[in-house]
Amino acid sequence: MSFVIAPPATPSVPVQGGAAGAQFPVHRIYCVGRNYVEHAIEMGHSGREAPFFFMKPADAVLPIAEGTVGQMHYPSQTASLHHETELVVAIGKGGRNIAAADAMGHVWGYAVGLDMTRRDLQNDAKKLGRPWDIAKGFDESAPIGPLRRAEDCAIDAGSKITLTVNGAPRQGSTLGKLIWSVAEIIEHISKAWELAPGDLIFSGTPEGVAAVVVGDTLAASIDGVGTLEVKMVALPS
Ligand code: MN
Repeated sequence: MSFVIAPPATPSVPVQGGAAGAQFPVHRIYCVGRNYVEHAIEMGHSGREAPFFFMKPADAVLPIAEGTVGQMHYPSQTASLHHETELVVAIGKGGRNIAAADAMGHVWGYAVGLDMTRRDLQNDAKKLGRPWDIAKGFDESAPIGPLRRAEDCAIDAGSKITLTVNGAPRQGSTLGKLIWSVAEIIEHISKAWELAPGDLIFSGTPEGVAAVVVGDTLAASIDGVGTLEVKMVALPS
C-alpha cells in the first residue's frame, strides 16, 4: 500500500514483567468520569450517577519507564493543570456487549496513569455546555507507566492508589473505592463502542486532585501494579 504522506507512528506503551521488552500498541484511550465517591463529591456531584466516558487521542500517551523520572511539558492555555491518578486497564481481546462476568478475560494488563486535566478549561466547558477535548485530550495528557500482564499484577480491593507531589501526599485511596469496577466499566463501554485489542481505559481518580506547576515532580503508585514518576517542565516556545 502506498500513502500520500508518511503514516504516523503507532503510539505504544512498554511492557514490564512477563513479555518485558515488548511494546503494547495503543488503539483508543477511554476515560471514566467520577468513579470514586469522594472525588465526585469534591467536584460537586453526589457520586451516585451512572458511569460516563470521554476519550483522549491514542497519541496523548506519554510512556515513562519505571525507575526513571519522565518529563511532561506544562501545556499552553491553562493556569490550573490538575493531576488525576488512575488505574489504567489494557484491553487484549475486543468485543461488543461484554457482560461484566466475562469482562476480565478481555483484560491484558494494568498500568499506573495520570489523566492530566486543564481544570480551568474543563470548568469553562461545563458552564458553556461545550466538549471537554481541550481540557482532557491535549498532547502528553496521558502519562503512563509500563504495562504489566494481568497475571503479573496482584491487585484487590485493598490495593493502595497514591500520588505525591514533591514528596507530599496529594491523593490516596484503595481500588475497592471504585464506584464501578473494572468489569462493570468494560460492560458499560462495550455497549456503546466495540472494544478492540490495544484499547486503554483510564478508570477514574480518587479524591485529592489539585494543580501542579513547572518544576513539580509527581510520583504515582498502585500496589501490585507499579509506579510512575514525572516532572513538569516548561513548554518550549
Ligand atoms: Mn480522570
